[in-house]
Amino acid sequence: MEADIDRVLISRERLAERVREMAGQIARSYPDLDAGLSLVPILSGSVIFLADLIRHLPMKMKIGLITVSSYSGATTTSKGAKLLQDLNVDVTGRDVLVLDDILDTGNTLRLVTAKLAERKPRSIKTAVLLRKTAKAPDDVVADFVGFDIEDVFVVGYGLDYNDHYRNLPHIAVLKPEIYAAEVRS
Ligand code: 5GP
Ligand code: MG
Repeated sequence: MEADIDRVLISRERLAERVREMAGQIARSYPDLDAGLSLVPILSGSVIFLADLIRHLPMKMKIGLITVSSYSGATTTSKGAKLLQDLNVDVTGRDVLVLDDILDTGNTLRLVTAKLAERKPRSIKTAVLLRKTAKAPDDVVADFVGFDIEDVFVVGYGLDYNDHYRNLPHIAVLKPEIYAAEVRS
């Protein structure tokens, strides 16, 4: 798997340090949580981010899952966000923090925050580990951002290519020949 990597963009040490910092920022932004926080990680890409982040968060929390797909199979081109599985918990009247691995065109966060708003939560905030500034739209703004990155397709730390590489401990760019087999449709 490591042999498929062209370069490491963000090391595991930098990820760990930044995720810890983000947890501090997030905790400070919720001074008056009564019922605790509802975390909504967007599956599958945000699972590692979720696991590392919540172990630095001190407040009471519940976790609800939502699944969105924008890429399927061997592709690095977004097909637009599609809801695969809606939220499995009630967030009415609760403070909701949506987590995603990466903010690119904003289609995913736009879809998810609109879906969540229908459930009348008390508040909705968003946290993303990565943000590609190249295409970042004006109407989708994440409240918490780990790293701004260049417009390259990255894998690792939860992010996949054709469902592989999620278990890489760093954020990396694959060798061009790995993407060369890409299915264009
Ligand atoms: P958006 O909907 O903002 O265009 O993209 C967000 C989603 O697309 C992310 O949740 C992620 O699943 C996927 N995505 C966007 N850029 C990348 C990337 O560079 N690598 C991977 N693996 N997924 C990406
Ligand atoms: Mg995703």
